Amino acid sequence: YFRRSWSSESSDSVISSESGSNCYRVVLIGEHSVGKSSLANIFAGVHDSIDSDCEVLGEDTYERTLMVDGESATIILLDMWDNKREGEWIRDHCMQVGDAYLIVYSITDRASFEKASELRIQLRRARQKEDIPIILVGNKSDLVRCREVSVAEGRACAVVFDCKFIETSAAVQHNVKELFEGIVRQVRLRRDSKEK
Ligand code: GDP
Ligand code: MG
Repeated sequence: YFRRSWSSESSDSVISSESGSNCYRVVLIGEHSVGKSSLANIFAGVHDSIDSDCEVLGEDTYERTLMVDGESATIILLDMWDNKREGEWIRDHCMQVGDAYLIVYSITDRASFEKASELRIQLRRARQKEDIPIILVGNKSDLVRCREVSVAEGRACAVVFDCKFIETSAAVQHNVKELFEGIVRQVRLRRDSKEK
């Protein structure tokens, strides 16, 4: 099921263990329990029935090469934001090391939406002079009856943040592939405009 949904565009949309110069470190941040690890697990392909195309580099680091718009890109996904065991330094570390960020909230949890704004501001402070690609991610879109944050609010917030916006559902695997393709496109847009 996973493989089909992930590879729906073309059979070669996932290439295993190829890494090149198009390698981006993408960091998941956001309030506890909004679904960061669930999104990471889909990326990692833990639901794949047989072999996985993903390399697990560490407990909360995953690497995968995708084909996006005819060009391959390797994403190293970091899901260590909630790792309390390692202490507070890990959050500072996360803020510094990303080439791109997925700021995740749950559409069923307004506090997590507000937290997302806080994180956007923190990120801007930590990386002042850089134009970092960010996607604001409203996860748990399947829980329609529990919705506390509207699509319009999410979108408006992204405009203020100057970033992209997408609603996803890790539970039903809606828009997850699009999310990771989207972040690759955002990184490329900046790269291409620098080359000009
Ligand atoms: P994290 O703390 O941000 O890493 O969040 P988790 O991935 O651990 O998810 C927290 C809880 O929310 C778990 O019980 C997940 O099964 C559930 N969850 C995550 N994503 C979704 C989603 O898209 N829809 C629904 N209904 N539940 C989700
Ligand atoms: Mg987690």
